[in-house]
Amino acid sequence: MKDILLLRPMPRPGVLAIDAYSPGKSTATGSGTTYKLSSNESPLGPSPKAVNAFKQAAAELGRYPDGSATILREALASRYGLSLENIVCGSGSDELLSLVAQAYLKDGDEAIYSAHGFLVYPIVISANGARAIIAPEKNLTANVDEILKRVSAKTKLVFLANPNNPTGTYLRFDEVRRLHAGLPKTTLLLLDAAYAEYVRQNDYEAGVELVSTFDNVVMLRTFSKVYGLAGLRIGWAYCPPHVAEAVNRIRGAFNVNGPAIAAATAALSDASHFQRAVEHNDRWLPWLAREVSKIGFKVTPSVGNFLLIHFPEGKAAEADSFLLARGLILRRMEVYGLANALRLTVGSEEANHAFIAALGEFAKTVGSHG
Ligand SMILES: *Cc1c(COP(=O)(O)O)cnc(C)c1O
Repeated sequence: MKDILLLRPMPRPGVLAIDAYSPGKSTATGSGTTYKLSSNESPLGPSPKAVNAFKQAAAELGRYPDGSATILREALASRYGLSLENIVCGSGSDELLSLVAQAYLKDGDEAIYSAHGFLVYPIVISANGARAIIAPEKNLTANVDEILKRVSAKTKLVFLANPNNPTGTYLRFDEVRRLHAGLPKTTLLLLDAAYAEYVRQNDYEAGVELVSTFDNVVMLRTFSKVYGLAGLRIGWAYCPPHVAEAVNRIRGAFNVNGPAIAAATAALSDASHFQRAVEHNDRWLPWLAREVSKIGFKVTPSVGNFLLIHFPEGKAAEADSFLLARGLILRRMEVYGLANALRLTVGSEEANHAFIAALGEFAKTVGSHG
């Protein structure tokens, strides 16, 4: 039987070792209103200007998009004071993660990520034949010493989500600098700053300065989170010129679609919508953290648009079902090695109140049964 199985095309060995990424649920079990709080989407949705640009782009669907996404890269360059050649756009930052891994990893290489880091990293590492090396964390936070301890001559890439999803914790800029300083010049440090816009801490930086100064740092950003354009799949990388060149060689010639380019460009021009999204998070993230603590569950301090909530041993699955039955969709965390936690995305005012009310109800059941 074994022989028969071998008589078919086989993917490279790393591919068969991958657990496919499983996205957050999007349906609830209850019959009333549902609140999807499982994928860190913006409760405000996209800017109306972005929606309008998307609709206008319908008139151009018969044409190929600009393969270089020039108007968007120009808008990003002027917004952030960057140079155009150092920006590469992708179909979500997910695609850019794949492209960077594909460009820099080969069979037998190693790439490091931290224990509760974003689960797309091990996928893109294994998909390219490399070995994923996991660095332990302290207090659910990436640890520079633990990462540096694992660097070897085979380490080609280090992935750091900062802030990290799903923990919501972050590394101060001086720690990121220390991480970079400890890496060989031939190891690429990838800073995934998907939640950078939400961070209020003065000691945080997404990584622009490091990319501008060194040859071995890349920063990824996305329109999926604060800009509310997750459905369009658009992200960007700020890279040293030689990295941009490598990624440009292997990416699809039209990897970013026309409506996405138009909508993202319009989104960048809507400063007031952006401001509203950030202020909404500034108001509701601390409120949710406080209310969850008052109910009696622990939360990990978060600087993103989501919160990791810890339940007593064995109770997270029960909490998830209880909340689902009330239309509240959260993210289970078993795959991240956090089986007793659920991740909650900051929702609309109504969703946040509904969540806290339901969590309070659930706490009563935990109190009586365990
Ligand atoms: C959401 C998220 C992204 C963004 O992915 P897109 O492909 O741009 O939608 C990237 N990294 C992390 C850590 C995320 O949580």
